[in-house]
Amino acid sequence: RAHLDRIAAVDADVHAFLHVNGHALDVAADIDRRRADGEDLGPLAGVPLAIKDVLVTTDMPSTSGSKILEGYMSPYDATVVARSRAAGLVPLGKTNMDEFAMGSSTEHSAYGPTRNPWDLSRIPGGSGGGSAAAVAAFQAPLALGSDTGGSIRQPAHVTGTVGIKPTYGGVSRYGAIALASSLDQVGPVTRTVLDAGLLHDVIGGHDPHDSTSLAHEWPSFAAAAREGATGEVLKGLKVGVIRELPDSGFQAGVSESFRAALAAMEAQGAEIVEISAPHFEYGVAAYYLILPAEASSNLAKFDSVRFGLRVDVPGGTVEDVMAATREAGFGDEVKRRIILGTYALSAGYYDAYYGSAQKVRTLIQRDFADAFSQVDVVATPSAPTTAFKLGEKIDDPLQMYLNDVTTIPANLAGVPGISIPSGLAAEDGLPVGIQFLAPAHEDARLYRVGAALE
Ligand code: GLN
Repeated sequence: RAHLDRIAAVDADVHAFLHVNGHALDVAADIDRRRADGEDLGPLAGVPLAIKDVLVTTDMPSTSGSKILEGYMSPYDATVVARSRAAGLVPLGKTNMDEFAMGSSTEHSAYGPTRNPWDLSRIPGGSGGGSAAAVAAFQAPLALGSDTGGSIRQPAHVTGTVGIKPTYGGVSRYGAIALASSLDQVGPVTRTVLDAGLLHDVIGGHDPHDSTSLAHEWPSFAAAAREGATGEVLKGLKVGVIRELPDSGFQAGVSESFRAALAAMEAQGAEIVEISAPHFEYGVAAYYLILPAEASSNLAKFDSVRFGLRVDVPGGTVEDVMAATREAGFGDEVKRRIILGTYALSAGYYDAYYGSAQKVRTLIQRDFADAFSQVDVVATPSAPTTAFKLGEKIDDPLQMYLNDVTTIPANLAGVPGISIPSGLAAEDGLPVGIQFLAPAHEDARLYRVGAALE
């Protein structure tokens, strides 16, 4: 009730939600009954959960922020949603996002932007700006996001929240409307590292419905967060800092906060080690070939026949109907990436663009393998700037893309990453995050380190 009241009070300004669950109180009452009957429901039973609209749900529309899926009702729940329901979490609603998760500001949503609760003239990050803003504005205690190139971690950075991109394959993608299948990962957005661990324990683990899901025995991430909270983990922890990461492009307050966080870790016994990751900075260029290539293929299914919108063309051919539907249903950024992707994949260009990008991806994976032979975690600022103003980058896609410089490499390499708050930037008083990256399968290490710094 308190969260629904809070949504009613602030969401006209924040616009974190695309849909609020009209049955939330009934679900909560049912959980209460089950608990009264003695059912053992686990630690998150009864806790409200905001769900990014990229995740399909049977009882609420799933649009992925696009007009082409307006009002679309899924016949099944995404695995992460089904597992959340089974654990007694109460779906609170669906959160706003850049259309098909393409963007860093939530301004590409077909349903209007979300605003940053810290300053309503600023962006909440993207693509999962709705989930991060809902958590930051106390409209929801927990949220689910998806991270293809930073869409959990960068919104966490600009809203002062915690965001985790798990190891690729650690959390099921079944029912997550695909953007780029080799990069997409679902994860938690919360206010504390422990909260994220509790939610990760619910949604994670092997899922036979997702062919890339890992058959791996994961430890409890909540337990890891509790262990980390003692701070012991920092003693002797080797923290890698990337020599080649350019200082230019980073806002002064972001760099200062990053250095202060490293100094604080050092004071508690961590060892800061300079490492070389020479291909890290080429991640953005490789990503913006690989992502559009995969997205152009994934989005081919929105053909006016199988899902959502259909624009009738009287007397027209099937192709005319498909073209008119995609013309009307997709926004500019989606069209831009479909064109980029189909171009990069076209005969004659494939080797030059997609093939080269895949080679860069391999080099980035090797950089990480080298780095993790020397250090336990790699640290970077979570993003180059604090929350920028709405409208500031919307007409300059390249500026928007450069915002992802520190988050993208983790997706290319499949390794886990966390963004936790590291204070406020001196010049604008806005939240800044620090990112830690760990080797694949070592998500628990991020929970330990993150909790130690809270
Ligand atoms: N900002 C990145 C992009 O536009 C990341 C998106 C994401 O992680 N879904 O592609």
